[in-house]
Amino acid sequence: MKPISSPAPESSTESAVSLNGVTAQAHAAPVAKPDIFAKLRPLRNRHAHIVETLGIDPVGMRIERLDSPTEAWIEGRRCTLMGSNNYLGLTFNPAAIAAADEALHASGTGTTGSRAANGSYAYHQRLESQLAEFYACKRAILFTTGYQANVGFISAIAGKDDVVLIDSDSHASIYDGCKLGEATVYHFRHNDPEDLARRLARLPASVNKLVIVEGIYSMLGDYCPLKEIVAVARRYGAYILVDEAHALGVLGETGRGLTQQTGLGAEVDFIVGTFSKSVGTIGGFCVSNHDELETVRIASRPYCFTASLPPSVVASASVSLERIRTDPSLRQKLWANTDFLYDGLRALGLPVGPDKSPVIGLIMPDAESALRGWRTLLDAGVYVNLALPPATPRNVALLRCSLTAAHSRAQLEVVLAAFERVRDQTAGLLAVQ
Ligand code: PMP
Repeated sequence: MKPISSPAPESSTESAVSLNGVTAQAHAAPVAKPDIFAKLRPLRNRHAHIVETLGIDPVGMRIERLDSPTEAWIEGRRCTLMGSNNYLGLTFNPAAIAAADEALHASGTGTTGSRAANGSYAYHQRLESQLAEFYACKRAILFTTGYQANVGFISAIAGKDDVVLIDSDSHASIYDGCKLGEATVYHFRHNDPEDLARRLARLPASVNKLVIVEGIYSMLGDYCPLKEIVAVARRYGAYILVDEAHALGVLGETGRGLTQQTGLGAEVDFIVGTFSKSVGTIGGFCVSNHDELETVRIASRPYCFTASLPPSVVASASVSLERIRTDPSLRQKLWANTDFLYDGLRALGLPVGPDKSPVIGLIMPDAESALRGWRTLLDAGVYVNLALPPATPRNVALLRCSLTAAHSRAQLEVVLAAFERVRDQTAGLLAVQ
């Protein structure tokens, strides 16, 4: 960061008062401040338009009461939650709650510091061993959130002489990890191994290259063509990182994600994941077979300079992770629900994404129809995610649903009926698949 030098005090007829070495002009008229908020005003105006159109602030929306993993009271109405990312419905896992409760009483409400400064609890280290075993990897490192796992790992590993190649639909945390690091960053076209190959071909063999993809993409629910990406990375000697945030617990025999489903785990250098979706709590991690992953603990600013996860959170993550590994019935329920909703929406002629997954992103014709559709769904007691440009891939306007194992068939029937209304409202505008 550039040092900011303080300007010399202006001469004044008023007497100068020294406060802790800072000289202030007593009674001097304040200098007018330029407008630091001016750059945010277009965003504020746009947000105001959204709030006015919807009659509710979708960003500041309040959940008045939560009844279960799939039901909450919003605006005085009981709603079915269709955008929670709670893929396995484990937020109310009784065993996880009991473990969290025990840890809370044994070790208190928080760690009040980072592991680098305040030390690791046995809870952290045990969960790291469990994660390494879960992924059949040598090393695991915990971060305080999934966002920090990407920012912390990518910024630490990608130095100024390195090149990072990211899919253009990457999550904000991947973009931000690149910004915090010093590597040169290239974007390749979404899910396009040939575009990746073209970019890799231009780079010298001696340069470190890191390719970053996601198992399931968070907005449209499409899968990474991992086999082809791995083949390209191998051809050019590139490292691979897969963010399995939305695939953990969802894909693979024991829930490891796309790497397990495709049998390509051994070809991938690093896996990043989060506990905030299928695991039902909060926290992030990176696992790898590279022993040097350990060095990230002293190189990563988001690891060193933030407080570590509270023991209660770690304890609940540990219990739910074990449930994910040992109980395939949750995944089976999730996929039965996914089949029902994806096929149902498609039969209604709604523009579901290209791959069937528990993330269903419906591309609306424009932001206005997305806003109208979102409100119609809320009025029918169905809460989905509203995703608008510029926070979306290729600037599309999306109504995004995520399914959980905890949804009942009756709930999903209500959801389908509500979407039928959206379709009728938007008739003629939707690109039917
Ligand atoms: N990676 C991806 C692909 C995500 O979708 C998200 C969250 N939406 C994250 C990372 C960050 O995870 P967390 O919310 O646990 O910080």
